[in-house]
Amino acid sequence: MGTVPHLRFYNTLTRKEVDFEPIDAKNVRMYVCGPTVYDFAHIGNARPVIVFDVLFRLLRHVYGAQHVIYVRNITDLDDKINARALRDHPGLPLNEAIRAVTGTTEKQFHEDAKALGCLKPTVEPRATDSIAQMIELIEKLLANGHAYQAGGEVLFDTKSMADYGQLSKRNLEEQQAGARVAVDAHKKNPGDFVLWKLSDENEPGWESPWGRGRPGWHIECSAMSERYLGETFDIHGGGLDLIFPHHENEIAQSRCAHGTKAMANVWMHNGFLQVEGRKMSKSEGNFVTIYELLETEKFGGRKWPGEVLRLAMLMTHYREPIDFSVKRLEEAERLLAKWPAAEPGNSAPDASVLEALANDLNTVAAVQALHSLAQAANSDRSVLPVFAASAQLLGVLPQKTEVDAAVASEIDARVRARLELLKARNFAEADAIRDTLLAEGIQLKDGKDAATGERVTTWEVKR
Ligand code: AMP
Ligand code: ZN
Repeated sequence: MGTVPHLRFYNTLTRKEVDFEPIDAKNVRMYVCGPTVYDFAHIGNARPVIVFDVLFRLLRHVYGAQHVIYVRNITDLDDKINARALRDHPGLPLNEAIRAVTGTTEKQFHEDAKALGCLKPTVEPRATDSIAQMIELIEKLLANGHAYQAGGEVLFDTKSMADYGQLSKRNLEEQQAGARVAVDAHKKNPGDFVLWKLSDENEPGWESPWGRGRPGWHIECSAMSERYLGETFDIHGGGLDLIFPHHENEIAQSRCAHGTKAMANVWMHNGFLQVEGRKMSKSEGNFVTIYELLETEKFGGRKWPGEVLRLAMLMTHYREPIDFSVKRLEEAERLLAKWPAAEPGNSAPDASVLEALANDLNTVAAVQALHSLAQAANSDRSVLPVFAASAQLLGVLPQKTEVDAAVASEIDARVRARLELLKARNFAEADAIRDTLLAEGIQLKDGKDAATGERVTTWEVKR
């Protein structure tokens, strides 16, 4: 496995970089808040998906693939989903309409994540499959005095937790002063948040000790993370906008229910993807979906391959804002075009790439190091396996691996035939093979084997 680097991550909870020490190196546990499946994901939503995929790959490399559990939930329960279901499927019973919305959206999300080169998380729990666990948590909070029932809701009592607000560093007064929402009369404190609310007959609901209702958003992640990772785990991630209130409230619920000092030891947050200085978001209307980038000509008048989107994302450090533009995508594309296609092998990734990632996931330095390896591999084929392993750690190994073995060997045969034609100086026929392959989306790259000086040709799939 080569040298094992020492991992250091910036922890939002302490506002400091920390040496990463997993609770159990044989069982490293990470939770990342996943999508609410009411609409297709935009490229801003892709940022945490990609960033934490790189972290997952790094942890798997360091601790062994079988020793890392990555949980990313699917929020398939939300008032936005209900609204969408009513709008798009007015003829269906509500539960069927909801399933139609969440089913299609979840499927598209998985296709998007795959196109962006992301591994599947170890577990992808749906909120609606953990309702019993949520009810159990709420019962604990009521029993130990951290929650109360009022106005048809069960609410978390923020004043009941002495150190509420640690993650976002807001104190209760600040929250009250800053609260824009009208203070609901039934709340003890303006910052108190919903754990359970009653549903009317036109809303989805589950039976509970407090009547037929549905959980609040924050309790979903407390329940699912406990179910799959335990009361305290290693890393919790998501976008910067989740720090408050979502993560703050997850911490409050989990710690108060379990009587623990921490929900997760390290809290990591990616910065925003922006358009002309503003956060990309559904509500701003300044968004482009991953699907539109991959499959339509909406952005910059052309389609963009998943690897280009992914690399463009990794060319900025995850905590910095990214300004999303055609120029940035073109830059990533130019870089990728210079890299050789390669098969993933058994080689270890290069120390330069590992060290960069170990340093608070410095993908900027990692991409630079990878580019140097690519240049070296272009002139010396013996570097290719190290380049391939390093590229795989970032998830940016050109697509050759995705081709079915039978198709790959058929392409190899045509590439060999072309080499023979070149040797025989039959350039017209050699070029014809190259052009036919290109029309099929296969790009050839000619190079020289450093050792023998012979011409070698590699190929890769361009979408
Ligand atoms: P949402 O669907 O808004 O709950 O977002 C899903 C995930 O995407 C969360 O981790 C958000 O923090 C993240 N996210 C949303 N918008 C952006 C953005 N413009 N840039 C980076 N991350 C974002
Ligand atoms: Zn969450």
